[in-house]
Amino acid sequence: MEENFGKMEKSAERFWNRKTASLIPYVPGEQPRGEKLIKLNTNENPYPPAPEVIEAIRKFDYNRLRLYPDPAVTDFRQAVAEYFGIEKSMVFAGNGSDEVLAFAFQAFFEPDGRQVNFPDISYSFYPVYARFYELNWKAIPVDSDYRIVVDDYCRAGHDVVIANPNAPTGIALTLEEIERIVAADCDRLVIIDEAYVDFGAESAAALLSKYDNLLVIQTLSKSRSLAGIRVGFAIGSAALIAGLERVRDSINSYTVDMLAQTAATAAVRSGRYFEKTRQKIMMVREETAERLTGLGLKVLPSSANFIFAAHPQIAGSELALMLRQKGVLVRHFKHERIDQYLRISIGTQEEMNILIDRLAEILDYNRV
Ligand code: PMP
Repeated sequence: MEENFGKMEKSAERFWNRKTASLIPYVPGEQPRGEKLIKLNTNENPYPPAPEVIEAIRKFDYNRLRLYPDPAVTDFRQAVAEYFGIEKSMVFAGNGSDEVLAFAFQAFFEPDGRQVNFPDISYSFYPVYARFYELNWKAIPVDSDYRIVVDDYCRAGHDVVIANPNAPTGIALTLEEIERIVAADCDRLVIIDEAYVDFGAESAAALLSKYDNLLVIQTLSKSRSLAGIRVGFAIGSAALIAGLERVRDSINSYTVDMLAQTAATAAVRSGRYFEKTRQKIMMVREETAERLTGLGLKVLPSSANFIFAAHPQIAGSELALMLRQKGVLVRHFKHERIDQYLRISIGTQEEMNILIDRLAEILDYNRV
């Protein structure tokens, strides 16, 4: 039986429906297994989760795992509501912010009619969702400095998705700029994806009391060191949250598991550790940016836990490969406008020292 696997005459791909066959899925960054690499490719936090999180998992009663988790994710949503000073009815929790974004694209954007706009250089999952849900969408070019042109998003009638800070550039808009976009047309929805906001940008959460056409999405994967637990959330008016719940409850009522709920609730309440680790990451980022500039790289101004940098002579793909051969993993995106660039996550001080040393060796060897 086993030897027949893969040798059928016709591929079972014939069961893919038209849509499945036409998909262009998102490609996640590499998660190496076994190899000892300095991992600066997926914007994870180099520090462990807060001590309160580890304690909460340690005290977790495993007998409870035979039960389904709380479908309303009550404790976590309450903790998020207290953190932002809003009502629990204004918080939606999901399996990572990727899932929350996917639900939001599905819940609020139109296959025909209103168009959804996002920058051409941004999180590469946005066009994947837009195609998956067969939306009417358009990618709006960022300018030659990779900045989002605010006026492009102030036109009435178009829904908007913006990552702030943007990824993979790290460049942030100010709260005033975000407000101009939100206020331009209260009859279209603006989603601000704040996956990296805790590393130096201002949260649009401050605008929620004034606007009901704003949905802010955050994650515990970055500033809260919990990428492995998969929790993200959206905050916005109760009716937007109810829309997300309608979509979720038409697919899977239990998207946030019991252990994740426990860990995520403790993480949101871990104020001091959160503050200390995010400050450290921002400090190491600034130092690293200076050292990369010293090595001749062009570095974009980052408000995130990564740096977007390019060497003027060496192609991004080549540089990424040479770094990998020297044990350092960074991310390169095959996109014509950013082909020269590397996205480098901020690790510990020691990891960044090694990155700089290896890069200096490569540049010295290539005499550039
Ligand atoms: N938004 C942006 C801009 C991101 O870079 C990421 C991380 N890949 C996410 C959302 C999703 O993060 P998660 O699903 O881990 O919450």
